[in-house]
Amino acid sequence: MYIFATITFYEIMNEQDFGIKEIISHAKEYGFVFPSSEIYDGLQAVYDYGPYGVELKNNLKNLWWQAMVKLNENVVGLDAAIFMHPLTWKASGHVDGFNDPMIDNKDSKKRYRADVLLEDKAAALAIEGKQADADALLKQMGQLLSAEDLSGVRQLIIDSGIVCPISGTSNWTEVRQFNLMFSTQIGSVADDASNIYLRPETAQGIFVNFLNVQKSARMKVPFGVAQIGKAFRNEIVARQFIFRMREFEQMEMQFFIRPGEEMKWYEHWKQVRLKWHKALGIPADNLRFHDHDKLAHYANAAVDVEFKFPFGFKEVEGIHSRTDFDLGNHQELSKKKMQYFDPEINKNYVPYVIETSAGADRLFFMLLCNGYKQITVGEGENEKQRTFLKFHPALAPVKAAILPLVKKDGLPEIGRKIFDDLKYDFNLIYEDSQSIGKRYTRQDLIGTPFCIAIDHQTKEDEMVTIRHRDTTEQERVKITDLKSIIDKEVSIKNIFNELV
Ligand code: ATP
Repeated sequence: MYIFATITFYEIMNEQDFGIKEIISHAKEYGFVFPSSEIYDGLQAVYDYGPYGVELKNNLKNLWWQAMVKLNENVVGLDAAIFMHPLTWKASGHVDGFNDPMIDNKDSKKRYRADVLLEDKAAALAIEGKQADADALLKQMGQLLSAEDLSGVRQLIIDSGIVCPISGTSNWTEVRQFNLMFSTQIGSVADDASNIYLRPETAQGIFVNFLNVQKSARMKVPFGVAQIGKAFRNEIVARQFIFRMREFEQMEMQFFIRPGEEMKWYEHWKQVRLKWHKALGIPADNLRFHDHDKLAHYANAAVDVEFKFPFGFKEVEGIHSRTDFDLGNHQELSKKKMQYFDPEINKNYVPYVIETSAGADRLFFMLLCNGYKQITVGEGENEKQRTFLKFHPALAPVKAAILPLVKKDGLPEIGRKIFDDLKYDFNLIYEDSQSIGKRYTRQDLIGTPFCIAIDHQTKEDEMVTIRHRDTTEQERVKITDLKSIIDKEVSIKNIFNELV
């Protein structure tokens, strides 16, 4: 009932999220993100990527891959299966510890994460200037959760005067732990079938392959293994569009190091990853680090990279010092040695790990929020709103639109020829109907950095007009120069240059 309940595309957590509505409806109308199985009223917290969304997401993933695997000699890739031996999740701690505390309001029948209710309350207290009360509340929550005192957590919710935003009552159920892993069965014969999980993170595929990768690619510590893939979590509160999904994609890298060197590498990857986010075009003011108050079961240091969404600073990537927790546990449970012989110090050890873990969907959402621009242009009677998506040209779903001014007089033929010459290098759109103004607007709305207009003069001088998305400035250029002009702007080398 709960999962299949009818949803609206705007299902959002609270009123603070209001500014996000326009972006979400833009994402749907212009082919970026659709609710999954919408004709059946959707499936909560599951989304599909449309024609421009899939291009943007692929560009983002490709950029991450290139920045990790291509730019770092000591990082290699992997594509592990989603299904893994069930003991994997015992060793990783997910079977016993991957829980969120949930609580239901008996009147509205709405379900909440108990810790999120308390965090929201603390945020509200801080806004009211009661920072000390907010800190005390968070501290108390942390202590109760660490002691697994769930009735204490419930009491704290009641004592703090937290009511359900829907029913307005504090008629709360007990707090229960809810395991976020989805399980299913593998095997065709019912008797033989065994329970397995859909992976809740991609990292474990890397850990169980640690020795396969190290030996086959002859890697020497320190080295990293990067992977992009789907992960699944049965999130309790799965709203806020693609921020919190039940099926999502992670871009994770596990960096294997000598024990004792974790703080050096932790700092290194923190800086590298922050730079990467800035290189995508995100202003420094809209990014920040947030150290974890409560460390996950596997970590001895952890920080989130947060982006300022319209609903506040929220995590887009986690950087964790995972010690030898994972490899050590796999070694114990599988009885296979997970050790590395380090020739430089003539020693065997289970390597420590620094993890960088980014959500492809959250970064996509970040790009949408960062790129959505509404500005006023013109003056007096001519004043109007101009909306466009400002993506870094290397990430833009479509790089250029080829637009003959009219659909006659040989202009479409020239346009088609340009399209055919450039289509092997760039993702393009060809369009020859409607007014040129409408066609420019349409490209602005999907974030195309260049529009190339072909007019009658083109037949004389073999030149076209390029219009730049961000400034709307136009310049006349030779057809033969188009490839290099576009290439210069859309090349991912522009982003790489920011990284060094
Ligand atoms: P949160 O605190 O928001 O639940 P988390 O700390 O559990 O996130 P991690 O386990 O560190 O997240 O996962 C790494 C990254 O994966 C996150 O930074 C985020 O970008 C992404 N991610 C995690 N859960 C989801 C989800 N339900 N939907 C979309 N992306 C997610």
